[in-house]
Amino acid sequence: MTTLPSNNYDVMVLLVDDQAMVGEAIRRALANQPNIDFHFCSVPGDAIKVAEQIRPAVILQDLVMPGVDGLTLVRQYRANPATKDIPIIVLSTKEEPAVKGEAFAAGANDYLVKLPDKIELIARIRHHSKAYLNQLQRDAAYRALRESQQQLVDSNTALISLNQKLEEATRAKSEFLANMSHEIRTPMNGVIGMTTLLLDTPLNAEQRDFVEIIRSSGDSLLTIINDVLDFSKIESGKIELETHPYGLRQCVEEALELLAPKAAEKGLDLVASIEPSVPPFVVGDVTRLRQVIVNLVGNAVKFTSQGEVVVSVSARAGDRPGELGLHFAVSDTGIGIPREKQDRLFQSFSQVDSSTTREFGGTGLGLAISKRLTELMGGTMSVESEPGKGSTFHFNIKVRPGADEAPAWAHGAAALRGKRMLVLEDNAMQRRVLGQFAQMWGFELVEAASVAAAEATLGAPGRSFDLLLVDYDLPGEEGRVLVSRLRALPGAAGAKMLLLSARRLRASGDQLPDVHGYVGKPIRPASLLEALVRAVTGASQQEKRAAAASPFAAEGRSLAERLPLRLLVADDNAVNQKVALMMLKRLGYNGDAVGNGVEVLRALETKIYDIILLDVQMPEMDGCEAARRICVKWTALEHERPRMVAMTGNAMQGDRERCLAAGMDDYISKPVRVEELKAALERWGVRVRSQR
Ligand code: ADP
Repeated sequence: MTTLPSNNYDVMVLLVDDQAMVGEAIRRALANQPNIDFHFCSVPGDAIKVAEQIRPAVILQDLVMPGVDGLTLVRQYRANPATKDIPIIVLSTKEEPAVKGEAFAAGANDYLVKLPDKIELIARIRHHSKAYLNQLQRDAAYRALRESQQQLVDSNTALISLNQKLEEATRAKSEFLANMSHEIRTPMNGVIGMTTLLLDTPLNAEQRDFVEIIRSSGDSLLTIINDVLDFSKIESGKIELETHPYGLRQCVEEALELLAPKAAEKGLDLVASIEPSVPPFVVGDVTRLRQVIVNLVGNAVKFTSQGEVVVSVSARAGDRPGELGLHFAVSDTGIGIPREKQDRLFQSFSQVDSSTTREFGGTGLGLAISKRLTELMGGTMSVESEPGKGSTFHFNIKVRPGADEAPAWAHGAAALRGKRMLVLEDNAMQRRVLGQFAQMWGFELVEAASVAAAEATLGAPGRSFDLLLVDYDLPGEEGRVLVSRLRALPGAAGAKMLLLSARRLRASGDQLPDVHGYVGKPIRPASLLEALVRAVTGASQQEKRAAAASPFAAEGRSLAERLPLRLLVADDNAVNQKVALMMLKRLGYNGDAVGNGVEVLRALETKIYDIILLDVQMPEMDGCEAARRICVKWTALEHERPRMVAMTGNAMQGDRERCLAAGMDDYISKPVRVEELKAALERWGVRVRSQR
């Protein structure tokens, strides 16, 4: 490898000649030349060694010397890696074409006759040395480049292998979390399930209090497990979004319904305001959207002690054709968040104020998860807030518009067309939402924000109404007294009266005379419409009582009476078996239980079952394997196959898919909630019964 001469700027010239006189002449010629150093070698045998040492930028080589032929030396320079590229100017005694030819063939770069003209000699030295030194510099730069490229490749390789290790670690972490979650959920199922059942037995007030605390602690623990699991799934990129059509209104309602009891307990108004431009059905991931709404509304309820929590939804055309942008705003009238703390909100494990942790609990993961989920759904999340006044969390997501048909429950709305309704409700947002329904279903709405306003309207001569919708929980009013006061006014004479309440009124039509229905808060359009239609069409007395009781009171008949089913529970954990059986018992069913997949198959040989509730992880034969075998066995008679509902503590992504791929029909996760179990039984029970 040739290296650069030690001093880049000096041109070292080596003269190899046996005649001292020539050496002296050239030294003089080059003396006083800036940047040119001169070295004279008078012993031809030393030439190569000297050249290797001083690394000249130009060699002046005599041709005729005693003992050594100059041309041989030229060839030796060329053959030596240290000197192979150094420019050589051959010095000859005369101008002789044959010798010149040989010199160039041997590798010389130039040919001069001794003693050369000073100016010409210097010009040639400068020309050749410059080209050579440039070449050396280029080589050096190229080498450096190659070296850094190599370093890059090396560090890249190191990074890739590090990344692989990280991925393995992440995978191991996710698996660990999935296992942990399963391990924790299994006993939690026992705790939560048993407390639910215990609460349904006669208990004194103190015992009930204790059990309720166990129950709510269990719920909080489960929320934390779910948060941590979700967060790690998002972190490891393991969340895949579903794209299914879903009812947007229903999704918002379900989210609000979950939080309605808490809001009612605190006396908060919980309102959903969905703009008419929002299509009834969209295509996207309903579970994740619900999760984000529940989280934001949950926070809003948690951090608000009085006032309202409003969820507003609006739609606008998306950036691309076939895309729809949905905007959600969740606003509250709560404690608010100081501006300087707002940035930190969406970071994981951060809470605005560590004292809130003590007061309100929480992992500080909810908003971080929600924000990431919205980003996965193609949107963003932000907050506006003023301490003491309240907060509004905004987020948007992208969806595809779904089929644009009115939901089935909206068909009865014709009965309301042209009717006149007075609503007495102090919450402006709630009145606005009712206004939207009025527009949608074609009835006339007169709003009264206070009892005085309602009384004035109903007392005015010539005013009559078909319907009165009265907020039963107005502050400072005794609902029952208010109802009879309004009833007495002339405008109410021919009107059907409905009560609006967030509480689970245990009233029945008999207890409150002249009341034609109850509407729960948050208002669900389906139940509002049903109650209104029933009131105006005058359903039969029995139906009326059922309608009046429906949102507030427990259903009269058990599920099993309405929907008799033969049920089998498969779970290896004895406590969980018991929980499942007892939950079924509460719904009126006497189920059988087995401990693994082999026993399931054996049980199916002797008895017919409509629905099997299958744990996934079981010894000997797990739930998925059992499901596969059952599907194979019933290939020819698919409609007679028992329906299979997975019941598992595995909450990792893909569990649901794995169960469904194995042939199961549905999936509920542990800890099993009675409502979920009931919904699954109804969903599949109705189908089973219609097919058999
Ligand atoms: P956590 O699970 O602890 O509630 P979040 O990420 O959901 O975690 O919320 C983080 C923090 O943000 C809360 O502890 C609270 O201090 C603040 N916060 C969230 N929502 C609101 C709200 N609507 N009003 C006031 N503070 C809020």
